[in-house]
Amino acid sequence: MSNNAFIADPTMLRIGGRSITTDRTFTVVDPATGASIAEVADATPAHAIEALSVAADVQSDWAATPARARADILRRAWELVMQHSEQFARLITSEMGKPLAESYGEVTYGGEFLRWYAEEAVRINGRYAESPGGAGRILVTRQPVGTTLAITPWNFPLAMGTRKIAPALAAGCTVLIKPAAETPLTMLLLSEVFREAGLPDGVLSILPTSDAAALTAPLLSDSRLRKVTFTGSTAVGRTLLRGAAEHVLRTSMELGGNAPFIVFADADLEAALDGAMAAKMRNGGEACTAANRIYVERSVLDEFTDEFTDRMRALVVGPGDQPGTDLGPMITARQRQRVATLVDMTVAAGARIRTGGTVPEGPGYYYPPTVLTDTPEDALILREEIFGPVATIVAFDGEAAGVAAANNTPYGLAAYIYTGDIDRALRVSAAIEAGMVGVNRGILSDVAAPFGGIKESGLGRESGSEGIDEYLETKYVALR
Ligand code: NAD
Repeated sequence: MSNNAFIADPTMLRIGGRSITTDRTFTVVDPATGASIAEVADATPAHAIEALSVAADVQSDWAATPARARADILRRAWELVMQHSEQFARLITSEMGKPLAESYGEVTYGGEFLRWYAEEAVRINGRYAESPGGAGRILVTRQPVGTTLAITPWNFPLAMGTRKIAPALAAGCTVLIKPAAETPLTMLLLSEVFREAGLPDGVLSILPTSDAAALTAPLLSDSRLRKVTFTGSTAVGRTLLRGAAEHVLRTSMELGGNAPFIVFADADLEAALDGAMAAKMRNGGEACTAANRIYVERSVLDEFTDEFTDRMRALVVGPGDQPGTDLGPMITARQRQRVATLVDMTVAAGARIRTGGTVPEGPGYYYPPTVLTDTPEDALILREEIFGPVATIVAFDGEAAGVAAANNTPYGLAAYIYTGDIDRALRVSAAIEAGMVGVNRGILSDVAAPFGGIKESGLGRESGSEGIDEYLETKYVALR
């Protein structure tokens, strides 16, 4: 491998460390221009079964590989990602569109899972107990779940992959990963990292495909697969849960969100504005943790709205690789159309546009930073995940009403509270139906913290010490 770049040929499939030519390819485009950037190998259901066979064959060897050896490979992979951070960041920006500075942020965050789980791999513990009645002794051990299918979305092409691959490998599971068709190049590059880091053949396969449903179906029907871990929309998560029922697979589901961002009148308003900009606009609003509904207590509503609108209006929209860009394009023309329609419907229902709200001319899938106010309570935009650079600000009166509005959703991933009162912060955190609550913080993700949702936002947790549990079975051995 050269010092400056990996040479990964995206037209070749990576099955268990081998490169394979496929009959068909599909096109990956740069969302900043709509132009093609690569042709990528299109994996078929037959390729998926081949990858599963290879993974199942080496599963017991990988499980029996000493934890220290698994950890060393993960640690080496982290070092390689960091050494090649520029190549990863540029690739993420070119296939996903986010500004380069955010791509570097993702490389640091996504790479960190490799280092964190290198450290966790050697700390998988069981327990010992004595039966209270004196009848015997209890030995509890942890074993890898087995071969795992990981399916990831396009919004964090590296981090959503490493957040699954790293704990799975640390636990001793073999992995098939199906990246999103919009952004498969980053995972293909990561496969070069793992090859260089010495991951044994067969342990990891990358399966980009233009037909995710067709590729997934035979895997879910094959009893050699033992787990499916998914990040994506709630609708697809439901389909996968149904499929996983056939062989009663272990499942982890990181699904959609509809995060409330609640600003109480006693909050530090400057901090709340900083937090709202981060929670709304990180990743161009294309984040499952994005603030979807901004609730502001009525006495500070006007001040907050004016200042927030000014900040949104000042954002520089442009290609992610252009210096000074704050907001890149959206991922596809379809996603942009979905967001534009949602805004138009909200305006038709009586909302007011403070800034943005019109699709610009020209190439690339751009949508401007948009602020809506006076949104009717029953508007679709308050119920659906926006997944774009659009903020809806809604007034509320008093803590109970704020909490009730926040909880009025089937989702329960992230929530944000801004308040200067610690008692209120703790009380509202407890009352909010969400897996994660940010108190006076607009960014939650942390490699050491359990990430995940309740209600229709998902099952299980990723990252933190909890993340590895998703890839481990508990075994109880009864001793005399
Ligand atoms: P999506 O559900 O359309 O696609 C996600 C992945 O599933 C892609 O790889 C896609 O190819 C695959 N897929 C689609 N249909 C499938 C099927 N029938 N069978 C198997 N695989 C299938 O979601 P998206 O538009 O790529 O991503 C956006 C969604 O992801 C949002 O809802 C967002 O909230 C969610 N998300 C959640 C988290 C989280 O941690 N909770 C993180 C990031 C994104």
